[in-house]
Amino acid sequence: MAYKFVDNYREQGARKRLVALLEERGISDKEVLKAMGTVPRHFFFDETFWNQAYKDIAFPIGEGQTISQPYTVAYQTQLLHIKKGDTVLEIGTGSGYQTCILLELGAQVFTIERQEKLFERAKFVLPKMGYRAKFFYGDGSKGIPECAPYDKMIVTAGAPFVPELLLKQLKIGGILVVPVGDEQAQKMVTVLRVSETDYEKIELDTFRFVPLVGDRAW
Ligand code: SAM
Repeated sequence: MAYKFVDNYREQGARKRLVALLEERGISDKEVLKAMGTVPRHFFFDETFWNQAYKDIAFPIGEGQTISQPYTVAYQTQLLHIKKGDTVLEIGTGSGYQTCILLELGAQVFTIERQEKLFERAKFVLPKMGYRAKFFYGDGSKGIPECAPYDKMIVTAGAPFVPELLLKQLKIGGILVVPVGDEQAQKMVTVLRVSETDYEKIELDTFRFVPLVGDRAW
């Protein structure tokens, strides 16, 4: 894929319209909307497909994976209630777009991807855009215990259940956001760690993600 990091008026205008659409669809966190209005999503697309970059759709990124739909990215991010300086573990780097949104919000991001080509690409592309995250290659269904605990965790692929090893790596007061269900549809689940042993789980809307594949997943 040939990257071109040019942000023209046409793309800036399309990005503004996307933010307005996300607001209409119910995204209300101003900081999240600002981040969605800042990160150039077309930088993750070949120039041939720039006209697709600000549609509210998921799009293929190779290796059978997708860059998530902007609404889904904004929805998951809003649930994390990111504060500046939060440590966030992202499972499923994919294109790295969600990573950039978390970085825009001031998080310190640890991100893991199991597809080597996608891992290499994101690790190359994000610094070119001025975004600095810690990139890991491997199975994120077990988390990254050596960098734990985290303030927040986000899983960007559909899990069959809440991966229990992730819960152990969450700080008390920390939040995990993970889509859970079968391969057709998943409920967005948030888990708040309230104490050493207690967690509060809430099930929200239905989405359709690519599967979380790994030791503690599909
Ligand atoms: N937020 C990403 C973006 O905006 O591009 C979305 C990525 S895509 C929907 C989900 C990603 O999770 C895929 O790239 C897939 O390879 C990855 N994935 C699936 N199972 C994984 C696992 N066990 N560990 C790490 N990554 C995994």
